[in-house]
Amino acid sequence: MKPILLRARGEENSRSINTYLRLGGYAALKRALIMDPADVREEVKNSGLRGRGGAGFPAGVKWGFVPQSTTRPRYLICNADESEPGTFKDREIIHTEPHMLLEGIIIASYAIGANTAYIYIRGEFWTEAEILERAIAEACRKKYLGKDILRTGFDIDIHVHRGAGAYICGEETALIESIEGKRGQPRLKPPFPAVVGLFGCPTVVNNVETLACVPHIIEHGAEWFAGIGRDVRNSGPKLYGVSGHVEKPGVYELPMGTTFREIIYEHAGGIRGGKKLKAFIPGGSSCPVLPADRVDIPADFDSVAEAGSMLGSGGIIVMDETVDMVWALENLLTFYAHESCGQCTPCREGSDWALDIVRRIRAGHGQPRDLEALERISRHASQGMTICPLGDAFCGPIASFLKHFRHEFEDYIARAEPLPPKKLPVLPVRSDRGPFGI
Ligand code: SF4
Repeated sequence: MKPILLRARGEENSRSINTYLRLGGYAALKRALIMDPADVREEVKNSGLRGRGGAGFPAGVKWGFVPQSTTRPRYLICNADESEPGTFKDREIIHTEPHMLLEGIIIASYAIGANTAYIYIRGEFWTEAEILERAIAEACRKKYLGKDILRTGFDIDIHVHRGAGAYICGEETALIESIEGKRGQPRLKPPFPAVVGLFGCPTVVNNVETLACVPHIIEHGAEWFAGIGRDVRNSGPKLYGVSGHVEKPGVYELPMGTTFREIIYEHAGGIRGGKKLKAFIPGGSSCPVLPADRVDIPADFDSVAEAGSMLGSGGIIVMDETVDMVWALENLLTFYAHESCGQCTPCREGSDWALDIVRRIRAGHGQPRDLEALERISRHASQGMTICPLGDAFCGPIASFLKHFRHEFEDYIARAEPLPPKKLPVLPVRSDRGPFGI
C-alpha cells in the first residue's frame, strides 16, 4: 500500500501549506463545502472509519449524535494528548503534514455544524504545538480558516490548547474539563459530550489520526477507504507504532488488519539481537498483553478483541524472551497508580494496592494469596466500577499478565522469604507524675 497519512514523510518542507497544496491538499475541503453536511457525515459513516485513539468507535456515528436542531454552539475537539505509553503515531502526522490534520478538522467541524475547534495537545509537546500554530497561521492567510472560508459562508476558527501533562486528560471528558480551566478529572457519562460537552454544548472529540483520515475519505470516497483493510468494520490505513525489543522501532503505515507477525518481523526488523518473542501489548500500555503464539492474528479492532485484547491506539510494545513479566507489570502499575486522578475509590486505592502487592512479590516476599488479591482488585476496579476507563486500563494488564504468565508470579512466590516481623514503635513511657516530676 502506498502511504496515505504519511505520504509526505521525507519530503522537504512537508509542513508548509505550499507543499500540501502541491500534493493536492485542501481539495477535499472544497469538495466537502459544496456537499450537504449530512452527506459528509454519511460518507464518513459508510467508510467504516473507527476512532484511532483507543476506543474504536465509528466516527460517522459519533458525529450523528450531535443534535442538529440546537441553537447552542457546537464544538469539535481534536485530541492530540497522546500520553499512553507505547503510543507515538499522532505526533508523526503533526510533524509530517499538519495541514492534513487541519483539513480534517475543518471538514469535521462543517459536518457537525461547529464554528470553533480546539486542538488539545499535551503540554510537553511544545514543538508540535508550535508546528500547529504555524500551520494555522498559514491556513488563515490562505483563507482556509477564519470568516467565510473560500467564500462559502462557513466560519471556522481553530485554537491550540496545551495541557499540563496529565495522562487522564487524554480521556475526552477530563480533556473538556481541562479546556474549561478546571482540574482535569473525568465526568460521569451520560450525558455524553455529543449532547453536553464543552461549556455545556454539543461537542465531538476525535483523535488526530481519525481526523487525518477524513480528507482522504471525502476525496476518494467511502468505498475506496472501506476497500483498504480487512473489511468495512476494520477499514482504512493504520499507523502502527512499534517499540520495545525490535531492531527498527518506529511508526509504520499499513492496511488495517496486517498481521502482528508482518509488522514486527518484516517492517520493524524482527526481535533485537535475534532473540525470541515472548509477548506483545497490541495497542498501548492499557491493553491486555498477548503471548507470542498470538503473533499471527491480524492487527485490527475485531481480531484483537477476539484474541482477548484491544487494538487501542495501535502502539505495539514488543517484549523479548528476557523480560521478567513481574517486573513488566510492576512497571505498568507504577504508571497507572501515579496517573489515577483519585475520584473513584476502586481506581485510587486499587491501583496503589495492586502496585504494592506486585512490588512485594518482586522483592521476594510474595504469598500465595497475593495472586487472588490481584485478581480480586482487577475484577472490582474494572468494567463499569469506575467513572472512566482508567480502571480497566490497569486491571486489563493485571488479569492478562496473570492469565498468560502466572507461572512467573508463582516462581517468585515459591522462592519468597517471609517478611521480617514488624518492629513496633517504642512509645515513651507515660509518667504518673506531672510536669517537673511532681
Ligand atoms: Fe479518576 Fe481513576 Fe476514577 Fe478515572 S477511574 S475518574 S482516573 S479515579
